[in-house]
Amino acid sequence: MKALALDGKKVSAQIRAEVAEGVRAAAARGIVPGLAAVLVGDNPASAVYVRSKGKAAEEVGIASRTLRYPADLAEEELLRSIDALNRDETVDAILVQLPLPPQIRAARVLEAVDPAKDVDGFHPVNVGRLVQNRPGPRPCTPAGIMELLRREGIGLRGTRAVVVGRSDIVGRPMALLLMHADATVTVAHSKTRDLPGLCREADLLVAAMGKPGFVTGDFVKEGAVVVDVGINRVTEPADLQRYFPGDEARRAEFEKKGSTLVGDCDPATVGARAGRLTPVPGGVGPLTIAMLLANTLALATARRGG
Ligand code: NDP
Repeated sequence: MKALALDGKKVSAQIRAEVAEGVRAAAARGIVPGLAAVLVGDNPASAVYVRSKGKAAEEVGIASRTLRYPADLAEEELLRSIDALNRDETVDAILVQLPLPPQIRAARVLEAVDPAKDVDGFHPVNVGRLVQNRPGPRPCTPAGIMELLRREGIGLRGTRAVVVGRSDIVGRPMALLLMHADATVTVAHSKTRDLPGLCREADLLVAAMGKPGFVTGDFVKEGAVVVDVGINRVTEPADLQRYFPGDEARRAEFEKKGSTLVGDCDPATVGARAGRLTPVPGGVGPLTIAMLLANTLALATARRGG
């Protein structure tokens, strides 16, 4: 079997178009949703993410601004900045780009964000709402995956789902969302025994561990749906050959940029067994940004009585 791609780009374009429509409707009522991103330090990947989030926001009519701070920013200063954003009436959604520098306690900062403006759903109040399946902003990556599965008609009720990874950002909220959708969920992590055997039981396998190509075909039940969350940049020609043998487009990209992206799944062997598979890039990544926009609009309408 050759897996059919689960096209995150297509679904994210649909979501963005719906958000743009919603933003126009809000504008007609005098509401311009506002997103503020906070970027501390000069991590190049974070800078790229924040830029693309800001651009995507502007494209759908969301007013976006980025507050940039040096890597040696004191925690108290960042907390003051968050407090000002909490009180700013034009800001509906606050995004604190992670990771933060080591002198800043991320948990303290995320807890300082007003839960009503918490666009990533990382505040403990919103995590509690997720646990209890009450309305509230959901972390963008798992929320995007749920939208992808729903819009692609992949039923979850009664299915066996395995989520590899238990981070606050991806694995844990993913598992909760799948459980609320009536899947039977197992969460695997670095201490899990016989990971390949466990994964082979899955009708739906979500790989979110941050290890390039770790999940291979022998982790996958024939015909399973596989969602590859990983985004890993590889720079060794041997990796290019290993993950993308004979893929001329990848080779050309690699020669131009000196790197290419690979997910947590080995695309060739997983692609040969899975029924559906999200590509990297073009799978989960675009959905994360689309859900950030959707969450911003939802927070704006909830907070301003839209
Ligand atoms: P973290 O590093 O926070 O978490 C990784 C998780 O994977 C941990 O729970 C860890 O287990 C588990 N893990 C690590 N190694 C193994 C292993 N050998 N076997 C089983 N489990 C393992 O990563 P994130 O959740 O933040 O991100 C995961 C991946 O998703 C990364 O590649 C990241 O770049 C990508 N990502 C993609 C996004 C997108 O938009 N597409 C958005 C966010 C992340 P333990 O808890 O035991 O340490």
